[in-house]
Amino acid sequence: MQFHDSMISLVGNTPLVKLNNVTAGIQATVLAKVEYFNPGGSVKDRIAVRMIEAAEQSGELKPGGTIVEPTSGNTGVGLAIVAQQKGYKCIFVCPDKVSLDKINVLRAYGAEVVVCPTAVDPEHPDSYYNVSDRLVRETPGAWKPDQYSNPNNPRSHYETTGPELWEQTEGKITHFVAGVGTGGTISGTGNYLKEASGGAVKVIGADPEGSVYSGGSGRPYLVEGVGEDFWPTAYDRNVTDRIVAVSDKDSFQMTRRLAKEEGLLVGGSCGMAVVAALEVAKELGPDDVVVVLLPDSGRGYMSKIFSDEWMAGHGFLEDTSTATVADVLR
Ligand code: PMP
Repeated sequence: MQFHDSMISLVGNTPLVKLNNVTAGIQATVLAKVEYFNPGGSVKDRIAVRMIEAAEQSGELKPGGTIVEPTSGNTGVGLAIVAQQKGYKCIFVCPDKVSLDKINVLRAYGAEVVVCPTAVDPEHPDSYYNVSDRLVRETPGAWKPDQYSNPNNPRSHYETTGPELWEQTEGKITHFVAGVGTGGTISGTGNYLKEASGGAVKVIGADPEGSVYSGGSGRPYLVEGVGEDFWPTAYDRNVTDRIVAVSDKDSFQMTRRLAKEEGLLVGGSCGMAVVAALEVAKELGPDDVVVVLLPDSGRGYMSKIFSDEWMAGHGFLEDTSTATVADVLR
């Protein structure tokens, strides 16, 4: 019989897919690491497994304990699945810009979700960082993974994502491009690839315009899961050779093109990362292999990026793709 013991053993080993159409005019090979094939639908399943198992081993997380984490959704899903399988409770704290779709997914796995305002400073008592600290203090048996400072976040990518890419490309990868949120993906994967290649692989971070990584002050932007208004310790600043800043509009238009032209229904940070990857790839030759990591699926953004009304309302839509019956019959 062929089966997996539990959902946990399905985490990782995601496929690499060549981008064939959005790459028109580019000589380099551009491959996408499609992380929505993880059981929770995102790259964050990887860090959830590693952070929880490390906390069990260190004794920080005890049987029947409660996991409390500020998360924009994907980390929550990963933690909720692993917690459900292992018998822990979960309380998640989310900023209010996160899609209701994502919040309801967390609740579906049995987690409790507290929603906090985005438009307050990190020091404000209602900021999602402070609310989660308060919940940790007040909940018995609480443990906060803190993906922003937990070394097991980048370590999970050093141990899984990096080696997978090295094997899948048979060591031919020349450039790795990923969005930077906590910085865990780019730091763990990037450091592994640099070590494996003797420093040859170039690591490029993609960042929303306005975020600190590309020199901004933390100005609000709409792409979810990436960019910050502070520097987390999970991010190793020395790993990136270059940071490419991408606007919300370019990110979302590319996200829609990935569905239409590549059959990839992915999230907004994926469109952002692909814009940065193409920016890098257009200067390269036919022997170069650029891998861009796509963190999650587009299913959580149907009422935003994939809604013509929402896109038009933000001025992100130039051509309207919803034809009326009259247009089609004309
Ligand atoms: N995209 C999405 C949708 C995410 O949820 C995250 C995680 N915050 C990222 C990208 C960035 O990954 P990392 O935290 O590893 O930098």
